[in-house]
Amino acid sequence: MINVAIDGPAGAGKSTVARGAAKLLGFIYVDTGALYRTVALAAERKGALGNDDAVAAALDSLDVRLKFEDGEQKVYLNGEDVSALIRTPQISMAASAVSKIPRVREFLLDLQRSIAASNNVIMDGRDIATVVLPDADVKIFLFASPECRAERRYKELLEKGEKVSFEEVLKDVNERDYQDSHREIAPLKPADDSVMADTTGNTLQESIDMIVSVIKEKINGRV
Ligand code: C5P
Repeated sequence: MINVAIDGPAGAGKSTVARGAAKLLGFIYVDTGALYRTVALAAERKGALGNDDAVAAALDSLDVRLKFEDGEQKVYLNGEDVSALIRTPQISMAASAVSKIPRVREFLLDLQRSIAASNNVIMDGRDIATVVLPDADVKIFLFASPECRAERRYKELLEKGEKVSFEEVLKDVNERDYQDSHREIAPLKPADDSVMADTTGNTLQESIDMIVSVIKEKINGRV
C-alpha cells in the first residue's frame, strides 16, 4: 500500500488539496481532523468538555467509524452520520482541546493505522508523518501565512452561512496553531524527512499540482 502523510496547520488547504490529489491518483483521502472533531462533539453532548478525565471516561461508550462513499469520507458516531455537524467553529476549538488528551489520541490511533494498512491513502492531520504513519512513503508539511489561512477559512465559513468576522477567524487560527504546536503529546511539526510545501498565494489547482508532483516523484511510477 502507498501511504502519503500530509500535515500542517489549520487552513493551510490540507483537506482540499489532499482530496484533489487523492482523486487524481485514485487514492482514498482520509481527513483525521474529523475524528478529533467527532470526539469533541461527543464530549460536548455529554457535558464533558473542559474536564479531561470525563472526556477520557466517555471514550468507552464511543464508536467512531469512517466510511468512504463515492470517495467521500463520512464519519459516524455511534451509528449517526455526524459529518456535517462537526464543521462549526465551536467544534474546531473543542477538537483542538480534546486532541491534547493522551487517551483520546491513543483511542484514534488504531483506526487511522488500519485504514492506511489496507488502502492507498492520502491522510491529513497534524501528526501523521511523526506518529501515526512514521513509515509513510511520502511526507508533506503544508503551510501558508496565518493571514492567508484565515482568509481561506473565513470564505469557507461565509459560504456555509456562518456569521463570523475575519478578525475572529484569524484569532481562532492563531490560537489553534499555538495550542496544536505547543501541546506535549504529538505536537504539530514536520517530520525530519517531510517535504515543506508553502501554499501562500497559490490557487487550489497550483497547490494540488505541486503536491501531486511531489508524490509522483517520491513513489516513482508505483501507481
Ligand atoms: O484538521 P482539522 O481542523 O479538522 O482538525 C481539528 C483539530 O483536531 C485540530 O486543531 C487539532 O487539534 C486536532 N487534530 C490533531 N491531530 C490530527 C488531526 C487533527 O490533533 N491528526
